[in-house]
Amino acid sequence: MKSCNDIRREFIDFFTAREHAFVPSSSLLPGEDPTLLFANAGMNQFKAIFLGSETRDYVRAANTQKCIRAGGKHNDLEDVGHDCYHHTFFEMLGNWSFGDYFKAEAIQWAWELLTGVWGLPKERLYATVFGGDAPDGLAADEEAERLWREKTDIDPSRIFHGGKKDNFWEMGETGPCGPCSEIHMDLTDDGSGGELVNAGDPRVIEIWNLVFIQFDRDEAGKLSPLPASHVDTGMGFERVAAVLAGKKSNYATDLFVPLIEKIESLCGHRYGASSGLADRFDVTSEDDPGDVACRVIADHARTLTFAIADGVMPSNEGRGYVLRRILRRAARYGRQSLGIEGPFLAGLVPTVVELMGETFPEIRRRQDYVIDTIRGEEESFGRTLDRGIELFTRQADRLAEAGQAELPGEVAFELYATYGFPVDLTQLMAAERGMTVDMAGFEMEMAKHKELSGAGAGVLKVDLPPDLPATDDSAKYGGKAVQAKVLGWVADGEFHADGELPAGREVAVVLDRTNFYAEQGGQVGDVGELRFTGGRCTVSDAQVAGQCVLHQLTVIKGTLRAGDEVRCRVDHSRRATMRNHTATHLLNWALREVLGEHVNQAGSVVAPDRLRFDFSHSQAVTDEQLAEVERIVNAWVVADEPVRDETLPLGEALKIDGLRAMFGEKYPDPVRVIRVGKGRKLQGRKYPLELCGGTHVGRTGQIGLFKITGEESVAKGVRRITAVTGPVAVAWVQQIESAASAAARALRIKLEELPERIEAMSKEIKELRKAGPGAPAGGVGDFVVTAAVETPSGDVLVTQSSTGDAGAMRTYCDVQRQKGAAAVFVGGVDGAKVMLVAMVSDELVGAGKLRAGDWVKAVAPIVGGGGGGKPNLAQAGGKQPDKLPDALHAAADYARDQLA
Ligand code: ATP
Ligand code: MG
Repeated sequence: MKSCNDIRREFIDFFTAREHAFVPSSSLLPGEDPTLLFANAGMNQFKAIFLGSETRDYVRAANTQKCIRAGGKHNDLEDVGHDCYHHTFFEMLGNWSFGDYFKAEAIQWAWELLTGVWGLPKERLYATVFGGDAPDGLAADEEAERLWREKTDIDPSRIFHGGKKDNFWEMGETGPCGPCSEIHMDLTDDGSGGELVNAGDPRVIEIWNLVFIQFDRDEAGKLSPLPASHVDTGMGFERVAAVLAGKKSNYATDLFVPLIEKIESLCGHRYGASSGLADRFDVTSEDDPGDVACRVIADHARTLTFAIADGVMPSNEGRGYVLRRILRRAARYGRQSLGIEGPFLAGLVPTVVELMGETFPEIRRRQDYVIDTIRGEEESFGRTLDRGIELFTRQADRLAEAGQAELPGEVAFELYATYGFPVDLTQLMAAERGMTVDMAGFEMEMAKHKELSGAGAGVLKVDLPPDLPATDDSAKYGGKAVQAKVLGWVADGEFHADGELPAGREVAVVLDRTNFYAEQGGQVGDVGELRFTGGRCTVSDAQVAGQCVLHQLTVIKGTLRAGDEVRCRVDHSRRATMRNHTATHLLNWALREVLGEHVNQAGSVVAPDRLRFDFSHSQAVTDEQLAEVERIVNAWVVADEPVRDETLPLGEALKIDGLRAMFGEKYPDPVRVIRVGKGRKLQGRKYPLELCGGTHVGRTGQIGLFKITGEESVAKGVRRITAVTGPVAVAWVQQIESAASAAARALRIKLEELPERIEAMSKEIKELRKAGPGAPAGGVGDFVVTAAVETPSGDVLVTQSSTGDAGAMRTYCDVQRQKGAAAVFVGGVDGAKVMLVAMVSDELVGAGKLRAGDWVKAVAPIVGGGGGGKPNLAQAGGKQPDKLPDALHAAADYARDQLA
C-alpha cells in the first residue's frame, strides 16, 4: 500500500511533469501579513502575485503548504478531535497558474490525478460549481460546468451548483476574487450522500478546492475582469491520504497511527477498541472520550511541533496565546481523559519528527529546541493542572446538585488567574458536562482585576528575595533611556540571582533602576527593549512585584548575564498611552460636568490604542450628552493647557480644594497630584485635579483629538465609555467617513440622506416580510415566511420554499442574513423528498442560543429524515413531504424555546 509520503510526492510529480515549479512551503509565521495569525492556505505566500505587486520567474507552481487554522478568520479548533477531518495543523497541496492556464486545465488535471493516477471511484466524487448570486450581480459559472462535462467523464448529475458562501472566493473586502469549483468525496455506506455536499456532514467531505481568480472588486463593491486570470487550488493532504487508503478518518492513515500508538503507550487506553471495527483506527464516532482525547493530542502535538519550530513561542498574546491554549488543552485531555500523569507532550515530538522530518527538515533541525520549549511550558502548567481540575469538578458537582448549568464568572476567572486555564478550556470542560460559563461575569472579573488591583491578569506570582532592593523607577515619568544593572530574573516560578540567559528564553528580569512604567492604576505596562553589549531583549510587559518592577522579556540576541549593564528604551507607543491617560482625566471631569456629581470612576484601562473608563451612572448616556462630553474634552485639548504633577504628603493633598479622592481607594503617602491648567477655571469650569501615579503628556494639546468610540453598560449602575486620541482618533474618523460614503454611493444618495434612507428601507423590508404569502424573496423559487421570532440581534425566520433545491434554499438564507435576519430555517419539497436548511448567525451561536446542526436534527425526524451539520449551517433530508408544515411549525417552536 502507498504511504502518505508517496502520495505527497506523487502530487508534486504530477504537476512538475506539467511544467510546474516546486515551491517550498512558506513558514507558518506570515512574514508580511500582519492581519494573519498563521499561514492558513497555500495562497498566502503568493498573495502579492495576485495583487499584481510582484512577479516571479515561473508562471506555474505546485507545493504543499503548512497551515494552521486555530484562530482568526479560519478557526477549526472546536471541531478537532470531534470530527476526523479537521485539524489545527494540516498540509494543503496546491497547484497554481499565474496568468497562464485556466479553468480547462485545472479541472482536467484534478480529475485525471484523482481518478486516473490515484484511481478514486468516480461514483464517489461530486463537483460543485458557482451557481451565481443575484444580489451581487454575479452570473453562474457556466464555463466551469461546461468544462466539467467536456474535459472529464464525470456523470453530469454529480455536478452541483453552490452559492456565494461555498463557491465564490474573495481575498478580502476588495481585490482579486472569483468563482471556485470544489471536489467532494462521498463516504456514506451506500454512496447516497449527494444531499450532504457542503452540509458540514462528515460523511461527505470537501477534498479539493479549485479557485479561478478572474475579477477585481473595487471599493464600491463593483467587479471588473482582471487583466490576467489565475488558478489557485488547495487540497487537504490528510483528507486525500485517508480517502486513498479507503479510510473514513484521517487518523487511520500512516500520518497519525504511529502518533496514536505512541499516545497509547503512555496510558491504558486502546484507541478505537470500543468501536468493534475491524480497523480500530478508522473509528469516527465521538462516543468514547478516550478516542477524542487521542485525536486531539495527536493533532495538537503536530501543531505545537511545527509552530514552535517556525519561531512561535507560547505566550499571553496573539499567536503565542493560541499556541499556549492548544498546549494546555492537550495537557488537560491527557490528564483528565487518559489519566496520563506528568508532562508527556514533549515526548511526542520525536514521533512527529520521524513521520514528517524528511519533508520538513526544519522540525528535525530544531527538534531539541521544540522539546525544551514544550517541556518548560507543560511543566509550568502541570503544577496547577490537577488542582484546577479539582476546583472545576468540585464547582461543577455543586452546580449539578443544585440543578444549575452555568459556571459563575468568578470560578472561570479563578481557574484562569490562579491555575492558568484559558477560558475556552474552561468552556470546553463545562460543555463536556452539559454546562456553560457565564462569560459576561468572567469578563467583568477580568476587568475588575485589571483595573482595581492595578495589576494585569496573568501576573507572575512570585516571592522575590526580601533583601532585593526596590527598583528605582523615578525615570518612568521622563521616559528617556536609562542605564541599569541586571539584578536577576524570575524563571519557572523562582528568582535567579546569577547565571546566563541565552537567546530565545522568556523570563521576567529585575533591574536596579528603570524607566519602564509597570502596569498600575489602569495604565498598561510599557513595552520596549533592553540593549547590552553584544545583544538585545524585547520587553513585552512591565509589572509590579512588591517593590520591584518585573520586565517581561525575551532575549533576542546574545546572552544576558546577571550583573550586566543594560540600556532601557521604552517604545514610542508610550507616547500614545500618555495621551490616553491625560484624556482619561479630562473625560472623567467632563462626565461630571455633563451628567452630575454622582459620577465616580469604577475602573479604567489606559493602553496605547485606546482608553476605557467605567463609571457609576444608572442610565445610558444619550448621544447629545456624549457629544457634549466630547466637545468639553476637545475644548481643553485646543486650549493646550499645561499638565503638571506634584508630590505631596497624603494628608496635605486630601485637603486641596476641588481634589477628588475615591472612597475606599488606598493611596500611597506621599501621593502624586496631577493638575491640568494653571488657573482656577477654564470656560467657567473647574480644572481637572486628581491623584494619579500614571504618565501624562506635558500639554493637553498633545492629545490632538479626542473621540468617543463606544458607550455601553457593564453592570447594573455602571457604564463604560471607550475612546481614542491622536492619530488613532483621526484614523477612526476617516474609517467611519469612508464607510458612510461608500454606503451613500451604493445607494446613490448624499451622505446626509443616509439615516433617513436606511430607516425607510428597513421599514420596507419589514412590510414585505409581513406581507407573507407570495411576498418576493431572494433566490430562485418562491419563499413564504411562515413564522418570525424577534430577537435583539435580528429576526429568526422560518420559511417554506417552493423548491427543494438545497442551493436555492441556501442562497435564500444568505440573502435573508444579509438583510439582517439572525437565523433562517427553510423547508421545501422536491418530488418525494423534503429538504431542510438552517443558517444561524455567529452571534446567536456564540451566545449559546441556537445551533443550526441541533436545529435540523430536532426537526428532521418529523419528515422522516435525519441530518446535521455545523453550528452556522446545516441541512437534512426527509421522505414525508406532507409533514413539512408540521416540521416548520416545530422549527419555529424550537427556536422560540431556545431563545426564551
Ligand atoms: P471545510 O468546509 O471542510 O472546512 P474549507 O472550505 O474550509 O473546508 P478551503 O479553505 O477551501 O476549505 O481549503 C482547501 C482544502 O483544505 C479543503 O478542500 C480541505 O481539503 C482542506 N482543509 C481545510 N480545512 C482543513 C482542516 N482544518 N484540516 C484539514 N484539512 C483542511
Ligand atoms: Mg473550513
